[in-house]
Amino acid sequence: QKKIVIVGGVAGGSTAAARLRRLDEHAEIVMFEKGEHISFANCGLPYYIGETIKDRQKLLVQTVESMASRYKLDIRTFSEVIQINREKRSLVVRNVQTNEKYEETFDELILSPGARPIVPPIPGIEDAAALFTLRNIPDTDRIKSFIDNEKPKHAVVVGGGFIGLEMAENLHERGMEVTVVEMAEQVMAPLDYEMAAIIHKHLKEKGIHLLLNDGVKSFEENGTKVITQNGTEITTDFILLSIGVRPENELAKEAGLDVGKRGGIQVNEYLQTNDPNIYAIGDAIEVKDYMNGQPAMVPLAWPANRQGRAVADNIYGKKVSYKGTLGTSIAKVFDYTVAVTGNNEKTLDRLGISHEVVHVHPVSHAGYYPGASPIALKLVFDKVTGTIYGAQAVGKEGVDKRIDIIATAIKGGLTVLDLPDLELAYAPPYSSAKDPVNMAGYVASNIVESGLETVQWSEIDEIVANGGTLIDVRNPAELENGFIEGAKNIPVDTLREHLLELPKDETIYVNCQVGLRGYIATRILEENGFTVKNLDGGWKTYAQVF
Ligand code: FAD
Repeated sequence: QKKIVIVGGVAGGSTAAARLRRLDEHAEIVMFEKGEHISFANCGLPYYIGETIKDRQKLLVQTVESMASRYKLDIRTFSEVIQINREKRSLVVRNVQTNEKYEETFDELILSPGARPIVPPIPGIEDAAALFTLRNIPDTDRIKSFIDNEKPKHAVVVGGGFIGLEMAENLHERGMEVTVVEMAEQVMAPLDYEMAAIIHKHLKEKGIHLLLNDGVKSFEENGTKVITQNGTEITTDFILLSIGVRPENELAKEAGLDVGKRGGIQVNEYLQTNDPNIYAIGDAIEVKDYMNGQPAMVPLAWPANRQGRAVADNIYGKKVSYKGTLGTSIAKVFDYTVAVTGNNEKTLDRLGISHEVVHVHPVSHAGYYPGASPIALKLVFDKVTGTIYGAQAVGKEGVDKRIDIIATAIKGGLTVLDLPDLELAYAPPYSSAKDPVNMAGYVASNIVESGLETVQWSEIDEIVANGGTLIDVRNPAELENGFIEGAKNIPVDTLREHLLELPKDETIYVNCQVGLRGYIATRILEENGFTVKNLDGGWKTYAQVF
């Protein structure tokens, strides 16, 4: 009879425990959890605070009793594992309620201790009375009861990642005036800047104060004043610190298990640490980036669940290889959905991997059926092979399925040339006969197959400033809502009449609203002997950042 011990009883740990039992009815399975709850819904916590989820009980996906009896598990809550003794294959466990310590042996050990919010030593942080972080049910209870009882009027959210923005929305829902302070030039790091810019505008529309390129310098007057590095002073009665998480690696480090540069426990493709009887999964481990093979930390629920099942399979000799993490993720930010998969341009630039991008702006479903709304969809790929590196989408509807389709395409080894050929479900309330993913595929295929040349939103101003010719092929009325300084307006339908006015000895740049008429204009000009580049994503992508 095998004795398998699990440290951590939430996403990864609980999944592993259930799978282990299904594989072996006779194993002894012990799961230690230092908190009171197991298998709770971390991802739902912001929505309970915002009161979209009204019933606290709904957050508790499994209780100790129900899980222990269904899977015949020895689940010990309030039990913190404080030491691993590799020679003896044993653990020291501390009962956090009584402080009593005891030893427990194992044949195989699975570590799924997660990651904890980073709390940097900002001056005044110790004295900030209403400063919170959000990771678990007790944190949630503290935040909720503070809001219910103290009725704060103003909140500062430090950090504009997905937890920070979900909380900004939920705090706003609870009637607070919210300021988000973010050190980077953009929120939502998995997006590239021009995609995040859509969210910046939306946050402002919703009345959120957004301080970018700024960090907290100090908390003053018991945390009722937040002083930023740029010198802004914000009076507040609630602070949420959400600047990221750090892997819980102390146990592993002390036991001599290898950890990576960013602190993640290192494992092989079978999720084994450098001790073959000790496995590690979830937020605590360093994974391989699925696209570029580099070490990465991706604290998300899908990897934790997938690894939880794989680790159990591997303990039973199934050799399930974890191939890396793509980082597919999604978040609701007020009326918008933001979703990404794979690598963005920032990552590829950092790694020196050359790439091409297209931006398209299709509608979520047939434009003539009520309720359609635009999706800004960006595809990042290799110009020669068509390999899909990643995708980002921001919109009000239908964002989730488009990113999921592309995530599936990546895992299936499809290239951008395959995307037009995906036969996707269509009726007017759901999509168009050319789905947004097909559209992105067509545009990208034009680049890979036909050598279509594009210019990016970030390059065009400089080109025009240096005397480049830019033709805006939209109708004059459309330019009333804005145009690129220096552009000459020649509507696409009259372009053939103006060919003699255009130079043949230099590259001509064209732009339209979203890139489609620009493409038509590009073809007309090329067929007439001009050298042409189309502004990718048109005015719409360009205007996102202003
Ligand atoms: P956890 O689920 O955190 O479990 C680790 C457990 O181990 C903890 O309960 C901890 O108490 C316990 N533990 C640690 N050390 C010890 C020890 N020494 N002894 C005993 N027990 C120990 N991901 C998404 O993909 N989508 C989302 O929408 C999303 N939303 C989120 C919202 C919030 C507010 C938070 C906090 C997280 C969210 N996540 C989301 C992330 C997701 O919850 C995590 O990636 C996932 O829970 C990781 O699983 P894990 O098993 O590694 O760690």
